[in-house]
Amino acid sequence: MRILVVEDEKKVARFVQQGLEEEHYTVDVAHDGEAGLQMAESENYDLLVLDVMLPKKSGLDLIREFRARRGTAPALMLTAKGSIEDKVAGLDSGADDYLTKPFAFAELLARVRSLLRRGSKEKSTVLMIADLELDTVTHKAKRAGRTIELTAKEYALLEYFLRNKEHVLSRTIIAEHIWDYNFDTGTNIIDVYVNHLRAKIESPGEKRLIHTVRGVGYAMKEE
Ligand code: CA
Repeated sequence: MRILVVEDEKKVARFVQQGLEEEHYTVDVAHDGEAGLQMAESENYDLLVLDVMLPKKSGLDLIREFRARRGTAPALMLTAKGSIEDKVAGLDSGADDYLTKPFAFAELLARVRSLLRRGSKEKSTVLMIADLELDTVTHKAKRAGRTIELTAKEYALLEYFLRNKEHVLSRTIIAEHIWDYNFDTGTNIIDVYVNHLRAKIESPGEKRLIHTVRGVGYAMKEE
């Protein structure tokens, strides 16, 4: 799942980015409201994390304009002030939740997970297909009782497949949700990662879960 963080305080931005990346999210960062709006509109983010006080354009104006142009990604506002008026203004501008600075990272993460669940048909923190399960809080994967060790990218890929099971996912869509702004579309890296993931989750004799859809991409389904 891919997240845009718009925060002008470089230290806070780095802290949030590193923390989210450690949790296997793909993160892009913008340092002002105009750049943030431009990225939010040109890329396909699963979630926006927006500071309210930003240079060039406030977080409130950013989300208001994003929503006016039919942007649907959920948004979490980071507000320095904890007043009722600020929270109301944030929610009325189109944000879905807010967090008052300074915040504990554990709370930011819990809110991120909650907002991502809201946008997904899967409401449980444990995603499943057939005898495979992925716990999105602990990041543990299991199939038929055996534990599967995943790298950060493999985890991100599996989570994305599970949240969109039964859907055909093109390589472009997969890249947009799992790789960041600097992804080079000319490579076969997605196929390489899918094959690594398959080797881990589909042992010999086990039912195939990731199906190749020729000329398009992949679909996770039981067949
Ligand atoms: Ca700020």
